[in-house]
Amino acid sequence: MSDAVDLPEANAEPLPVRVRDDRGLIYPFEEKPVPGSAIEVAPGVLWLRMKMPMQLDHINVWLLEDGDGWAVVDTSLNEQGSKDAWEAAFAHYLGGRKVTRVFVTHLHPDHVGLAGWIGEKFDAPLHMTRTDYLMCRMLVTDTGKEAPEEGLSFYRAAGFPKDAIDKYRERFGGFGFGVYRLPQAYHRLQDGDEISIGGRTWRVVVGRGHAPEHACLWCPEESLIISGDQILPRISSNVSVFPTEPDANPLQDWIDSCLKLRDLLPASTLVLPAHNEPFRNVTKRMQDLIDGHEEGMGKLLAMLDEPRRAVDVFPALFRTRITGGNYIMATGESLAHLNCLIARGQVVRTRGADGIDLYARA
Ligand SMILES: [Zn+2]
Ligand SMILES: [Zn+2]
Repeated sequence: MSDAVDLPEANAEPLPVRVRDDRGLIYPFEEKPVPGSAIEVAPGVLWLRMKMPMQLDHINVWLLEDGDGWAVVDTSLNEQGSKDAWEAAFAHYLGGRKVTRVFVTHLHPDHVGLAGWIGEKFDAPLHMTRTDYLMCRMLVTDTGKEAPEEGLSFYRAAGFPKDAIDKYRERFGGFGFGVYRLPQAYHRLQDGDEISIGGRTWRVVVGRGHAPEHACLWCPEESLIISGDQILPRISSNVSVFPTEPDANPLQDWIDSCLKLRDLLPASTLVLPAHNEPFRNVTKRMQDLIDGHEEGMGKLLAMLDEPRRAVDVFPALFRTRITGGNYIMATGESLAHLNCLIARGQVVRTRGADGIDLYARA
């Protein structure tokens, strides 16, 4: 059922997709697009895939036919490879028409990175949720600044060794490098909004926990949802606590959002995620994610008969050994699980005279 439309110069072999996985998810497309080509997943809905120079090495972005032009959903990182891929896509698929609007699901650089660049090129307005737009504007201003004392004491409290603290200092402000300057005004997306794109109605469904106010675009009429990072088939989205809000409980937000999406979307909905490939059986995927986090919290609780630091509980949540490079991610996720257990009254946190937090079963 896939309809691959390759650029004349794109001569790489299409990449095969595993059709069904062992968890009951169905991947209806046999191929995924190579950079510079698109696959039409529904009439007027094009799937493009951009390469990214990082561990998560790709992002899916979408073109939606929109009257006399095309709307873009998500944009990839602000770097040359993605700009080149967009230029190729514009030349090949827009057919002289323009980009009408830029929709961004959430604030992360792989999604918002080139929104400003595409917007400037076509004079196309940006559509985002308010919290994510404002937080993105805030985070880009960190670039070029020193790591703040609040951040250093947050990670010391979690039990970071010195080399991990140094890594945090070194990486602080990196967010802004992946993001082209944003427009100074935007159009707000809110949960429940109905937006007409190319004669179809797309409903905004907000999810929380991975980003503060993540917008998915759901088209019930075509049984499609562009899900950003809120619904991913193979990888679990990062759900983390950060130094700006040490007592946040993003994991409960995330679980609540999974429940909402599980009950809202028919299992037959074709999910168009930002990473991995389009799939069906969202009901199962949402339940598996909820179960996975609950199981993680159960294992964590079993480790807390004796007080432990946040960095001591990694084995409850991660199968691989955590090294300096991913200490921040692993700690953020561990704290998300610990804060959720605190909110549920199952864990207590006490700060020692050395400024290090200890967590124990309540
Ligand atoms: Zn994200
Ligand atoms: Zn992403």
